[in-house]
Amino acid sequence: MRISKMFFKTYRENPQDAEIKSHKLMVRAGYIKKQSAGVYLFMPLGLRMLRKLCDIIREEMDKSGACEMQMTSLLPIEAYASRVEHFGKDMFRLFDRSGKELCLGPSHEEIFTNVVKDAVTSYKQLPLILYQIQNKYRDEVRPRFGLMRGKEFLMKDAYSYDVDKAGLDNSYNIMADTYKRIFNRLGLDFVIVNADNGTMGGDASQEFMVKSNIGEDEIIVCDCGYAANTEKAECDYHPVDNSGVELLNKTKRHTPKLKTVDDLAKSLGKVAKDMLKAIVYKIDGKRTIVALVPGDREVEETKLIRAVGGMNIEMASLQDIEDIGSVAGFVGPFGLHNCEIVADNSVKNMVNFIIGANEIDYHYENANLRDIHIDNFADIKKAQAGDKCVVCGGELRSIRGIEVGHIFKQNTRYTEELQCKYLDENGKSQYMQMGAYGIGVTRTMSAIVEQYSDEYGIVLPEEVAPYKVDIVIANMKDKDIVEAAETLYQSLLDKKVEVLLDDRADGIGAKLKDAELIGVPYIIVVGKYTSEGKAELVVRSTMKRELVDLADLAKRF
Ligand code: ATP
Ligand code: MG
Repeated sequence: MRISKMFFKTYRENPQDAEIKSHKLMVRAGYIKKQSAGVYLFMPLGLRMLRKLCDIIREEMDKSGACEMQMTSLLPIEAYASRVEHFGKDMFRLFDRSGKELCLGPSHEEIFTNVVKDAVTSYKQLPLILYQIQNKYRDEVRPRFGLMRGKEFLMKDAYSYDVDKAGLDNSYNIMADTYKRIFNRLGLDFVIVNADNGTMGGDASQEFMVKSNIGEDEIIVCDCGYAANTEKAECDYHPVDNSGVELLNKTKRHTPKLKTVDDLAKSLGKVAKDMLKAIVYKIDGKRTIVALVPGDREVEETKLIRAVGGMNIEMASLQDIEDIGSVAGFVGPFGLHNCEIVADNSVKNMVNFIIGANEIDYHYENANLRDIHIDNFADIKKAQAGDKCVVCGGELRSIRGIEVGHIFKQNTRYTEELQCKYLDENGKSQYMQMGAYGIGVTRTMSAIVEQYSDEYGIVLPEEVAPYKVDIVIANMKDKDIVEAAETLYQSLLDKKVEVLLDDRADGIGAKLKDAELIGVPYIIVVGKYTSEGKAELVVRSTMKRELVDLADLAKRF
């Protein structure tokens, strides 16, 4: 492609709303352009990279035996019957001219399942793994980071249908292997973490996380290979022998104007972990839960809701707290009513601790388990760096990751609801076992740029670069140079190398800056060495330059 003929535009300045390097670089390099918040269009270079990702994904999915289809984006709202509430404001909803309500698909579990239900009747037609690469629409509360979290984004979503759980295990493993191959081919440094299944039912779920400091997810990892999302990461519990410790009597203390747990503990000559912290939640707008953790730890809400059951969890209001007989900031687990009190397992090891007195500006110190009421113990605290690994006892570390893929077993969650059944060998009607597997294609594109860039621009691996070579003509007025560059360009084209020819009238400085910005793995400068029959070859990843015979150059590719 001749750059003079191309729709090619780069920028020296970073876009004002960009916080992370991939967003800045993809806009500056002319890959993407903002349409509106969370909505980006693809310029020629960006589209080529996106296509490469799709090609790799498609190749590996097809190799795994999965079968590509395409659902519609415009869908009747009834298709999502049981999830309309779950998606809530995330769903784009609209009406057609007859007043019928439609939506733009945020995910396609129900849609695929309905197609399978209509076409599959017998066990002989199973198993199936179906997929599509298609835009999804979600009205995210906080679209940000360019393609990382958009309102319109490209997803590869796949769904498997099996006769039984063993079949589902098999399909799930096939998809896990396929995802590993895909992300390896894309050159990404990633970890696979155990994740929470959310409220979607089913029993296994893993996320593919690209390691990155700007990742929105915190991941707990151990050198032994254990890796889990903080929503899932388990905390080890070992009983401590406190039999030698004298249990003191609880005494009420006036504790005004102390804003933090640290300040409160300090005022009583103690430290944060001597406090029993009580956080009050509302589950599904109905049940009130008091969660107890040591003062130096946080409640992990996902683990809490898994422990107590329910769909939605939110902080309780001031009124909710009054309704159980307490007051915000001074909640203590005694004398409360109309609530469930759940403590983290580690609370069993606490002695002579501080608790709220259910009264403004008062706490008790030297409280003990005998003084309080707890309905249940469970693992509800958030795991953190320094904790012990539940698998090997080693020390856990915390890293950040970008979720680029998610695979999960949904079992019969959707097939029961939509009555997606087949007849087994004995002619008995059974629900299919289902799995769902997603890759955020556009998010993955950002994640690649996040991992592959330097101070000059984007530095892509060959497999995903929009072009492999950029031939920069140093001086358009020098006939010999132009001719040498044209000859080289033609010979690379003949060899099917994806090559750009920078034949713009601009100066060499500007052209080189562009070449370094746009993510090509090789830059060839045809300039002052042409008379000696040579050109400069720059390997973009190392920025190493070498003089190469023009005659030999085409052979290098
Ligand atoms: P997140 O926790 O990041 O919101 P999710 O759990 O909603 O993700 P899924 O519904 O499992 O995501 O979607 C599958 C994949 O689609 C995700 O792993 C992610 O890579 C991608 N994805 C999800 N939401 C977005 C978005 N708003 N913009 C870009 N990619 C997204
Ligand atoms: Mg989401």
